[in-house]
Amino acid sequence: MAEAEKVSAHSAQRHLSPGSLPAQRHLSPAFSRAEAPVPGLSPRSEAPVPGAQSQTRPGAEPGLNQSQDQRTRTRTKTRSSRTRTRTRTMWLMVLLCSVAPLTAAPMSKHHSGAGRMWHITDLHLDPTFHLDPDPAHVCSSSKGAAALAPGPFGDYLCDAPYRLLLSALDTLGRMVKEDDFVIWTGDSPPHVPPAELSTDLVIQILANLTLTIQDKLPKVQVFPAVGNHDYWPQDQMPDSPNDIYSAAARLWSPWLQEGALQTFVKGGFYSQLLRPGLRIVSLNTILYYGPNAATLNSSDPAGQFQWLQGTLEGAERNQEQVYVIAHVPVGFLPFVRNTTAMRREHNERLSAMFVRFSHVIKGQFYGHTHRDSLMVLRDQSGPVAVLPEPDRSQLQQRAQWRLEYVLTEAFALKDLSPASLLSLASDLLPPSSKAFLTYFNHFNVEFNPRLSCEGRCKVDQVCAVLNVAQSGYERCLGLQGHG
Ligand SMILES: [Zn+2]
Ligand SMILES: [Zn+2]
Repeated sequence: MAEAEKVSAHSAQRHLSPGSLPAQRHLSPAFSRAEAPVPGLSPRSEAPVPGAQSQTRPGAEPGLNQSQDQRTRTRTKTRSSRTRTRTRTMWLMVLLCSVAPLTAAPMSKHHSGAGRMWHITDLHLDPTFHLDPDPAHVCSSSKGAAALAPGPFGDYLCDAPYRLLLSALDTLGRMVKEDDFVIWTGDSPPHVPPAELSTDLVIQILANLTLTIQDKLPKVQVFPAVGNHDYWPQDQMPDSPNDIYSAAARLWSPWLQEGALQTFVKGGFYSQLLRPGLRIVSLNTILYYGPNAATLNSSDPAGQFQWLQGTLEGAERNQEQVYVIAHVPVGFLPFVRNTTAMRREHNERLSAMFVRFSHVIKGQFYGHTHRDSLMVLRDQSGPVAVLPEPDRSQLQQRAQWRLEYVLTEAFALKDLSPASLLSLASDLLPPSSKAFLTYFNHFNVEFNPRLSCEGRCKVDQVCAVLNVAQSGYERCLGLQGHG
């Protein structure tokens, strides 16, 4: 196919489309211990919106599979002025970019207006978080481990307290303008064993965060997508109507139109015009997620592939541009060898469809990995798409959010077009690549700038950036002597 230019990012959370998206900004909140702690903050007292509260118990088992959590590119992160710890599971990503002129695709008969896109993902609210004399009882999501330095805004070993999310959304609410829009790519419940949640609790958490977002961003269009934790039991999202799809459809009805709600209640996916000429396609990639036994033997669960094909053909006919949003990303996980986030056959089918419609899809945005990363989708002739991802946030006594980085500035890119991002990806490979050190530090959301990634680690990273489909990925490993 022609050398369309489009980019898609993967793993963690969202794929940004290439085009000439202006610089993206990352915001990080900072928590300073200088501020007086808030005594006895309990989850019950802090949630203003009726919602999730699990009574619980410590001692859960490991829930978060690090290899399955990722994030995106613009986000908010908190840190302490003293201890710069991070919450392991609170991935609050806010991606900001403009949706104005996209150069990658042919000029549409419509023209995208101004406005910016913000990306929120993987909020992972832990309603059990509270300050407790026994550090092992601070939150269910620590699964019995002793919290390290809990404060009202969280702890490194806990998922996000409501207060932290409220602070982030409050800050976001002051920054967002009416022309902007928000994508919200899923995973609202905490990382706790299934026995500690239920369908009702998952719905309560979805309700809590939905109502909070509607309260803090009252005039802004939000496009949600479902995550693997947005179901009970987690990951087991079915390809048919169920209580959670129905509840989410009711909660999200202020944002979604009738046609979108109709497909959502059946399969958890939808498409809707953001404005003339720019369509959001929200996929339910949990249907393709390896641990989902409910769709194990289905080649096209909920008929989503067929629907996507028809939707993209319609967009092509109408000369619309499309942003794809979803939770579990297409492509290979950058931190583990030869492992796709979704099932291999579904990954191949989806990648092929993205290449086929690369002139229509302007960007893709995913959650799930809790890290910032990019993916460049290439066809036979060159780059066609790029996918970035989101990140996480943190704790302590006080929340101050700061801009973490701007992608174009961090890598001296003139824009975020597929060609620019492919050029960046090529710069990552050489030994002692400064660009790779910067990329890896942002990938880890600046968790520890001294973390190194050489040899096999680096090959895995770079091959995952450059290849979304199997054949190219394997070729990349082979070229680097790791095949
Ligand atoms: Zn997550
Ligand atoms: Zn996830």
